[in-house]
Order: sequence, then structure tokens, then C-alpha cells
Amino acid sequence: MPSDAIKIVWIYPDLLSTYGDRGNCIVLERRAKLRGIATRTVNVRSDEPVPVDGDIYLLGGGEDRPQILAAQRLHGDGGLHKAVGFGASVFAVCAGYQLLGHEFGGEEGQPVQGLGLLNIRSGRGENRAVGELAGEVDPALGVPMITGFENHQGVTFLGEGVKPLARVAVGVGNGDGYEGAYSGKVMGTYMHGPALVRNPALADLLLGWAVGRRLEPVDDTWSGRLREERLRAVLPG
Ligand code: GLN
Repeated sequence: MPSDAIKIVWIYPDLLSTYGDRGNCIVLERRAKLRGIATRTVNVRSDEPVPVDGDIYLLGGGEDRPQILAAQRLHGDGGLHKAVGFGASVFAVCAGYQLLGHEFGGEEGQPVQGLGLLNIRSGRGENRAVGELAGEVDPALGVPMITGFENHQGVTFLGEGVKPLARVAVGVGNGDGYEGAYSGKVMGTYMHGPALVRNPALADLLLGWAVGRRLEPVDDTWSGRLREERLRAVLPG
């Protein structure tokens, strides 16, 4: 394996892995391979140290209690903080997204301390958001409309220096008309799907951040068909 292979780190499959979010790893590996870029994926269970030399860190969704445990262990470990300090990218989904912030709501709505890697705060909303999610992405990212599904109780508030990933067209997202957030190379979203399966342009953005240049498009008929089918199902006209 060449040493310049992109190192993908899948954080805590034993705690954060709902709705097949590990598919995000598979998409990154495949889209890198289509371009002749080597990758190496490391699965890090919650009783193992988080390597600090990864290029892309992925976190999935989770139930309330595993989410709290994951936040505590990641805090204690410190590896993810170091990696972000070294310039790594993070793509986090739902529970993983919330725990990147300063605070999120626990199973009784109690505030739980997050990692503070994104300047966001989450709490528990009045209603559970369940269903399809679609939105217009921040034009600065050069990514077409996003599609996914959401299943969460949390609502998320963005602080200074953090931009929403998208304006919601269908669904709930953060709860204020926007969905997800990013700052630098740290990005979170409420989208399952898995998110990168339905939105390969987001996968390419992450790979581009890792290699330090924007990647050329690749032909990927199946993901295009999936996107069309999902977007057609929820968007008017
Ligand atoms: N437990 C969190 C919530 O309900 C995240 C759920 C998830 O990851 N799907 O908001």
C-alpha cells in the first residue's frame, strides 16, 4: 500500500453505526479507486485509541445512550481533536454530527457535553424528525442538491464561524430551515441514506480535501439513478 494512500478512519462502529452509515466508507473507497487513488480504511472500536494520522474521519448515527458514551470516549481519547488540529477532514452523521458540537441533548433531554470541534449546540426538539430530507447546498461547496433521510429528535443551532450545509427543501434538518453544518474541513449532517451513497459529490469533496485539489468527475450511473429516483419522489414537479 503506497504511503500516500488516503487514510479513512471509521469511528466507533460498535456505538455509531445506524442505518448503514458505514456505506459512507465504501463510497469514499470506491470513488477514490475509480480515480486510481489508493485508500486504507481503519475501523476504530470504542475501546481502541483513535489514530491521529487519518485523512478523513467518519462518524455515523446512533441511539441516545451510545451517542453519550461515544462523546465521553472520544473526549477522553483526544485523538480526533489532534487529527483535526493536523488538518484532517471529518464527516459526521446525525448522532455523530451532534456530538461534534459543544453540547447535545441526552435521552431525557439533559445537556451532554460534546467535543467542541464544531461551534454548534444541539438539544431535543418537540417532535421527532422522520422522513426524506433534501436541500440546496451552499454554493461555495459546488455540490448539487442533497438527498437523504432523517430520523432524529435533536435540533441544532449554529454558532459563529459555522455555515449550514444546505437550505432545506424537504424535511427538517437542523430545525431552522437549514440542514447540517461545516467549518473548514469539519462537516456534519442529519442525512442517512447513506449520505455519500446518495450524494457522491459530497464524497468527492471530502476526497478532494484529502488530496488537496478538486477531483475530476467520474462516471457513476447507479448513484445518479438513485439520486434521481429519490429526488423525484419528494420534490414537486
Ligand atoms: N440520538 C440522536 C437524536 O435522536 C441521533 C439519532 C440518530 O443518529 N439517528 O437526535
